[in-house]
Amino acid sequence: MRERLLSEQTGFQELEIIDTDPFGRALVLDQALQTSERDEFMYHEMIVHVPLMTHPDPRRVLIIGGGDGGTLRRVLEHPRAAPTQVEIDRRVIDACRAHIPSIGAGAFEDARAQVVIGDGIAFVRGSQGQFDVVIVDSTDPVGPAIQLFEAPFYRDVASALAEDGLMVAQSSSPLFMAGELRSQVAHMRQVFPIVRTYLGVVSGYPGSLWSYTIGSLHHDPTTVDRLTIQRRLSEAGIETHYYTADVHLASFVLPPFIADIVA
Ligand code: SAM
Repeated sequence: MRERLLSEQTGFQELEIIDTDPFGRALVLDQALQTSERDEFMYHEMIVHVPLMTHPDPRRVLIIGGGDGGTLRRVLEHPRAAPTQVEIDRRVIDACRAHIPSIGAGAFEDARAQVVIGDGIAFVRGSQGQFDVVIVDSTDPVGPAIQLFEAPFYRDVASALAEDGLMVAQSSSPLFMAGELRSQVAHMRQVFPIVRTYLGVVSGYPGSLWSYTIGSLHHDPTTVDRLTIQRRLSEAGIETHYYTADVHLASFVLPPFIADIVA
């Protein structure tokens, strides 16, 4: 760490913005690194493009959490997407806009984006059949995020989805948080007919190997056609540095120790 640019206790969590070598500026919540300028693309491209390329026409997209703006920015790269973001802690958005603007890159100012300050759990409970895709870009299962990893919330998400909708959530480190991953997948399986875990590298996260899990009512992310993904990426003019059609399909190939966790 080169410098601590901001440190405060918000109404929900301890918030820090630090300047680091070699990750650049980074957001830290409750002592856990959330995102950094250097590797944010690895995480945000995988939590957004995999589910949005799985859905044939993702327009109504709900983001829960994501206060750094990186997820909103990637959703807005999909030309017909009209995202709603529900972030519980306004201070996270304000601090990231002020100190790490390169991550959101103006997404919060985009006219297509609707940003709500509030609890995603309550917001989802009040939404019926409204969304094509729900992205849960939350902190780990601590503090205000605990219930975001449990079946009652997933049931509410399923009700908030259109009949062919799907959701994705970050699902922790398969190496250091196997118990959290196993329990999260088990909760999702109680609700969704299709549950698929995929992997990606996020250099700043514990162990660098990170997982994401999709719960889907109809579309299977492992059977999306490679050429269809490539055509949609080029038609939308989406430039990526981590995600490709091949990375999408390969990310669902799980090594045995992880396949055992989610079995
Ligand atoms: N990519 C990061 C990760 O995987 O650790 C998450 C980044 S994002 C900054 C996480 C956000 O989730 C935080 O800003 C936090 O305030 C928000 N959050 C936590 N619980 C929430 C809830 N119940 N409703 C809405 N937002 C929530």
